[in-house]
Amino acid sequence: MRAWIRGAAESLFVTFFPSFCRLCHAPLTNISRLPVCEACLAAVRPVSDALCAICGEQIPGPLAASAPEALCGLCRRSRPEYVQARAFGGYAGTLRGLIHLLKYEQVRPAAKLLGGLLAEVIAEMPLQGRSLLVVPVPLHKSKARQRGFNQAEQIARFALRQLAGNLQLNSRVLERQRPTSPQIGLTRHQRRENLRGAFRVVVPEEVRGREILLVDDVFTTGTTVSACTRVLRRAGASKIWIATVARTFKEGAGSAVYSQAA
Ligand SMILES: [Zn+2]
Ligand SMILES: [Zn+2]
Repeated sequence: MRAWIRGAAESLFVTFFPSFCRLCHAPLTNISRLPVCEACLAAVRPVSDALCAICGEQIPGPLAASAPEALCGLCRRSRPEYVQARAFGGYAGTLRGLIHLLKYEQVRPAAKLLGGLLAEVIAEMPLQGRSLLVVPVPLHKSKARQRGFNQAEQIARFALRQLAGNLQLNSRVLERQRPTSPQIGLTRHQRRENLRGAFRVVVPEEVRGREILLVDDVFTTGTTVSACTRVLRRAGASKIWIATVARTFKEGAGSAVYSQAA
C-alpha cells in the first residue's frame, strides 16, 4: 500500500474506531491486533541481573561476580529436580499487564508477542543439539473450558514457530487431574500441599528417557513447575528444563526495569 493511502486509512480508522492502549490508556494511532501502545511495548526488556544458576532468582551483584555458577539460598538448601529455569523478565509492569490481557481479558493476539519473548528465553538456554519434548503446564479441564484456551500452550506454539532445532510440542502427556485453588497468598508449604497429586503423566511411554522443556507464562515460587517436574521424573523423563515468560523476583529489584514508560 502507498504510504499516503496507508496514512489516510489509519487516520480514518482512528476517527471511526478510536481506541486506547489497554495498559496505559494512551490513544492508539496505529492499526494493530494488539491494543497496546508503542511506549508500553518498548518498556518490555529482558532481565539483566546475575541469576541463580538453577532457578533464575536474582543474585546480589558481589556474590555473582565472585562465582558465576552461584546459587540462591533456596537452591543451596534444597536443590530443585529440574536442571535450570529461565524467564524473559520480571513479573511486573508491562510484562505483567500483557500476561493479564491474554489470561483474564481474552486479548488473544498478546500470545504471539509473549511467544516471541519465550523464544528468546529458550534460545539463550544451553539446549542446542538436544531433542526436547515441549510440555506446557496444563490447566484443569474446568479452567480450560472456562478460559477457552491454555495460555501456556498458546505461548509455546508461537515460540516454537520462531525456533529451529528438535523441539516437539506435546500438550497431552501431562494433565492437571483436579482443580486447584489459586496459589496467591499461600505460604510455600501451603502451595506444595495445594498441588499435591494435582498433576499426572497420562502417556508415560512418551516421556520415558526424554528431556523435557516445561513451559508456562509465569514462574512465581516454582511450586507448580516443581510439582510437574516431580511427576515427569517419576515417569522416567531424563532431564527437565523450564522456560517462562515472566518470573517473580524476591527483592523486586528486577521490577524497576519494567516500570511503565512515562
Ligand atoms: Zn500504553
Ligand atoms: Zn535458585
